[in-house]
Amino acid sequence: MRRLLILLGLFLVPVAVFGAMVAADRTFGAPGRGFDYVVRVDLPPVEALAALPKIEGPLDATRPLVVIDAGHGGKDPGAISDGVQEKDLTLAMARALRDELLRGGGVRVALTRSEDRYLFLGERSAIARQLGADLFISLHADSTEVATGATGATVYTLSAKGSNEVAERMAARENAADSINGVRIVEQSDDVSAILVDLSQRESQEKSELFARLILREGQGLMPFKEALPQSAAFAVLKAPDVPSVLFETGYINNPADLSRLRSEAGRLALAQTLARAIRVFFARSGQTAISP
Ligand SMILES: [Zn+2]
Repeated sequence: MRRLLILLGLFLVPVAVFGAMVAADRTFGAPGRGFDYVVRVDLPPVEALAALPKIEGPLDATRPLVVIDAGHGGKDPGAISDGVQEKDLTLAMARALRDELLRGGGVRVALTRSEDRYLFLGERSAIARQLGADLFISLHADSTEVATGATGATVYTLSAKGSNEVAERMAARENAADSINGVRIVEQSDDVSAILVDLSQRESQEKSELFARLILREGQGLMPFKEALPQSAAFAVLKAPDVPSVLFETGYINNPADLSRLRSEAGRLALAQTLARAIRVFFARSGQTAISP
């Protein structure tokens, strides 16, 4: 009997020590070190949409799909300067990018809006999710509140807190698209910080960051950038947790040089070529070929 107890003790002591080690690691261990825990979080349901935009390009559904979002639209003109409205510039840019991608082949393309139409910010990302997009890009051309002389494009990804004050102000302005006369129409950006703790988003975040860097790399010599690195802020339109998403401020509508670049066909083509190249490299790096059939 005594021998049995000793044997049992010999067996139980290492088990107990190991258990304590695991418990200590869970409590005090740094994340990412030692054990790798899998946390499953249910993604929010894709909101039902009345009508989904059509997908253009190859019929082969295994080809990667990019959803291009022309910022603003309909009753929301976006920024205005010299009689030019941001919503018209973004639609022209979205069409130019779609044409450039279709010309190269191998990539499927859908536009959140292909005419002058109002969409909630949440609808834009919901379209991307419902279509099963592999990439989402929201195009903008904002203005500065005061004439700071700011010029050039900025690439943004999602984060709970802005990378700086300028980024936070930009996100606040873009998020106001869901308000009429200051009254919020739909509950929106409060869940932006909540989804950031969602571990399932980590992969999308890394891919968004990669795409943002590729835009900056491919655009060198083709178009001017204000910031050499991607910026981030709590943009409500980027909240799709499972689709890599980037918001591209293509320039300042109240800067004469930027405005004439964005209005000109050559400027739009340079922008479309920059983005199309970045999109192709992105899909190649993600293991999704974008080669013509
Ligand atoms: Zn905008």
